[in-house]
Amino acid sequence: MALFGLVDCNNFYASCERLFRPELKSRPVVVLSNNDGCVIARSAEAKALGIPMAAPAYQWEHVFRQHQVAVFSSNYALYGDLSSRVMSILADMAPRVEVYSIDEAFLDLTGVADPVALCREIRARVTQWTGIPVSIGLARTKALAKAANRRAKKNPALGGVYDHTAEADPEALLADMEAGEVWGIGPRHQKRLWARGVRTALDFARLPRDWVKKEMSVVGLATQLELQGISCVHFERAPAPHRSLLCSRSFATLVEDKAQLREAVCSFATRVGEKLRRENAEASAVQVFVSTPRHRDVPQHNGQAVITLPAPTAHTPEIIEAALRGLDQAYAEGHGYQKAGVMLLGLTPATGRQNSLLDLPPEERQRQRTLMAALDGVNRRFGRGALRFALASAPDRPWHMRQMRRSPRYTTSWADLLKVR
Ligand SMILES: [Mg+2]
Repeated sequence: MALFGLVDCNNFYASCERLFRPELKSRPVVVLSNNDGCVIARSAEAKALGIPMAAPAYQWEHVFRQHQVAVFSSNYALYGDLSSRVMSILADMAPRVEVYSIDEAFLDLTGVADPVALCREIRARVTQWTGIPVSIGLARTKALAKAANRRAKKNPALGGVYDHTAEADPEALLADMEAGEVWGIGPRHQKRLWARGVRTALDFARLPRDWVKKEMSVVGLATQLELQGISCVHFERAPAPHRSLLCSRSFATLVEDKAQLREAVCSFATRVGEKLRRENAEASAVQVFVSTPRHRDVPQHNGQAVITLPAPTAHTPEIIEAALRGLDQAYAEGHGYQKAGVMLLGLTPATGRQNSLLDLPPEERQRQRTLMAALDGVNRRFGRGALRFALASAPDRPWHMRQMRRSPRYTTSWADLLKVR
């Protein structure tokens, strides 16, 4: 029988910031969006203070001061690098790994002799080698593994690993969870479910399938079946994670030629840009990664780079340009690459953001949006890739933005290395 593990880094951005500032261990930590606009990550202590997600920073300054909250600008170069270190440990230890977002990955544990022991080992090694705390949920389906992970995180007595398949009362997990917290249900469906008297994930799992299919499409039905223990979510169909979007592929044969990698990265950037617009979101940074095959007797290279965008955008040419600059940094010559990917980080809603001085004028942004909507329309009608971007060489632009509180790029910039006195 299938068995999935979901590994999720606890309060990932806040944990990254703490790593190099041990004195912050029990102080509340928040991370702000690009240009220091609003709160996008909180440590457990900051959550306990009642600081909500997406809180505008200026409205909470007094709370930050009063409770000595450590406030950081987002540092995607740091998060991207630590993420790839965590993922590479997972890839070394688990039979199969599917990176799902910057701080989450599914493990395929089917057939593993003692999966709980393996997960405890994984958790210990990630903590020891990277300092990032993770929680792992094990279950028969991905949606259940998500729910199991939530329990692993909420209940410290479990030591960070929770195996739902060993549960005497498997329904308790769902009874204990609001329907809106189920993977992919979200606020849009929550209202309709509420109106039908559906409060918990268990209520949702027990709804008539016909109703779910009619009201929430096959995607909702797939989620329901998953909660009933029937595995049916494949990755292309998986609901979008809320703070990063990924497109990656393994190549049929190893790719050494940089021109070919540029083409691949360009098409991943295009694809992930489409997903971004479908979510009605904008990205703050672009991560690119390339990797050589694992478990082989050849020199390995796992390169990654994060390019922070001057202002959040959903404009594909900007995403491609950043992705190609990232590839220049991530690529090392003389390797045969097996896999490459583009991840968009720091997602924010496309509507209702304040205009930054560093951003393009609003009319120009509007023109870009119209262009992208036309492009998406054509591709929907005539098939994906009917209209594509030619590979353009990226002009170098000096990019600056307001990041008064950004931590040093400890792990990716020589100039920012910790100094020991
Ligand atoms: Mg997380």
